[in-house]
Amino acid sequence: MTERIKHVLGLSGGKDSSALALYMKETRPDLDIDYFFTDTGYELPETNDFIDKLEERLGYIHRLNARSLNDIDGRGELDFRSMLKKHQNFLPSQRDRWCTVQLKLKPFEQWADDFIKEGYRIVNYVGIRADEPSRTGLLTIDKPIATVMPFREDGIVKSDIENILQRNGLDLPDYYSWRSRSGCSFCFYQKKIEWIRLKEKHPDLFEQAKKFEKGEDNNVTGERFYWMGKGEPLETLEDPKRRAQIIENHEKKVERFKKKKRRNALLGDIEGVYEANDIDEIYDDIEGGGACITCYK
Ligand code: SF4
Repeated sequence: MTERIKHVLGLSGGKDSSALALYMKETRPDLDIDYFFTDTGYELPETNDFIDKLEERLGYIHRLNARSLNDIDGRGELDFRSMLKKHQNFLPSQRDRWCTVQLKLKPFEQWADDFIKEGYRIVNYVGIRADEPSRTGLLTIDKPIATVMPFREDGIVKSDIENILQRNGLDLPDYYSWRSRSGCSFCFYQKKIEWIRLKEKHPDLFEQAKKFEKGEDNNVTGERFYWMGKGEPLETLEDPKRRAQIIENHEKKVERFKKKKRRNALLGDIEGVYEANDIDEIYDDIEGGGACITCYK
C-alpha cells in the first residue's frame, strides 16, 4: 500500500517561513503543499495583510485558530481573558509560554489530527536557515510529524531571504519597519522600544495589551505581573522621561551595532537605516530572542 503523506508548511507572517513557501514553489513545484497560518486573533494588521499577499502567490492558505478550543462561553470569540482565567490569571511569559501552546500549537495539532486519523504521515517544512543554530521545528507532541528544513539542506542563509521575496514581487512585511517579529501584538518577547513603536503605530492594540495587565484578573499572589516584566507596567511608557530614556538607550545600541557592522565590513554602510530586522543582534540576543519559531519565523 502506498504511504499517504501530507506536506504542510506553516506561515507565521515572518520573512523566513514566507520565503520558504515561495522557495518550495520554485524548487519543488511538484510537491502538493498545504499552507497554514495560525491566527492567534491578536496578530498585527500588517501580518494579516502580508498573509493575503502571500495567498495571491501561493494559492489557498488555511487559517487555523484557537477559537473552538477556548470558546468557554460559547460566544465564538477568542477571548484572551478566558484563557488567562484558565491559567490562574498569570500572563504568559518567557518562563511560562502557555500562549504558544494555546494559540499556536493546539490549533495546529487539531488540524493535523484530522489528517493523521485518515492515515496520513505529516511532513512539516520549517524555515530554519543554514546559518542558524539547530533547533527543533516545533514545541510539540508525540505525533507522526516529520520536520524538514529545506533552507538548511540547500545552504540558504539570511542574505538570501530578501532576494527570494523580491523575485516573487514582495518586500519585507510592513511591520519590519518598526518591529522585529510577527506574532501577537502583545508579545512579551518584544523589546521596550518595540512597545513604544506599537503605541505609536497601533495605539488601540497598545491599550488592549494594557488592559490585559490590569484588574483583578492579573493579581493572584499580590505580586503584579506585566508584559515587560515584574514592576514595569506598560503605562510606564507613557511617562515622557522614561520614553525618552528608552529611545536614547536604543539609539546608542543601534549606533554601536552599526559601528560593529562597519568594522566587520559585513553590511557596508547602513547609515540611517532602522534595522528592526537585526534587533536581536543589536541587543546581543540570540535570533528570535528565544521565541518559538511557530510565532515569528
Ligand atoms: S507571539 Fe508571543 S504572545 Fe503570541 S503566542 Fe507567540 S510567544 Fe505567545
